[in-house]
Amino acid sequence: MEQDFKDKLSQDKTLQAQVLDVLKGTEVGKAYAETIAKNYFEFIKILTNCTMDDDLINGFFKNKFTEDPKYSKPVSELKFDYNTVHLNFKCHEKRDIFNCDCIKYAENPLQLCSHLVTAIDHIFRSHSYGDNFWNDSNRMKRGLENLLRENIEIILDRLDITEEHGAIKDEHEIMDFISGTIKTKNNS
Ligand SMILES: [Zn+2]
Repeated sequence: MEQDFKDKLSQDKTLQAQVLDVLKGTEVGKAYAETIAKNYFEFIKILTNCTMDDDLINGFFKNKFTEDPKYSKPVSELKFDYNTVHLNFKCHEKRDIFNCDCIKYAENPLQLCSHLVTAIDHIFRSHSYGDNFWNDSNRMKRGLENLLRENIEIILDRLDITEEHGAIKDEHEIMDFISGTIKTKNNS
């Protein structure tokens, strides 16, 4: 019986809305909704840091799945008209976690393509990555953090900023380095 309910809840949007309404009326429900809202905001901020504006808009508002997204562990498959996304949050390297076969992502893997935005957002919202576990860095959050870290490393590499030029270990030092570079440029 309980499993039936869970199955129905995961499929039926009307039932989801009804349950949410009931939950919101309780203290536990209110706290839960606030946690999700706060974490979703943080999630969106991370996505905006690694996605071009037009891909964010297409990702959140335009893209449609052509089949019901398949969430399975370790690899989820999400299909669009001409492209397929594979997500594997068990992996540690960006290229193993976030995969899309579109040309845009192949050409610029520093930024997420719109398909990846749609796919990650769908998984975030439908599989409780945004609940209390978000703060403990669940697999999705760790994957996104890895993505940002790898991107920073690639950019620093392109700028030829290596540890030889001064040990850069964390983001504060990177920011100091970058603002230092700007100051030097302004002075010269
Ligand atoms: Zn794509």
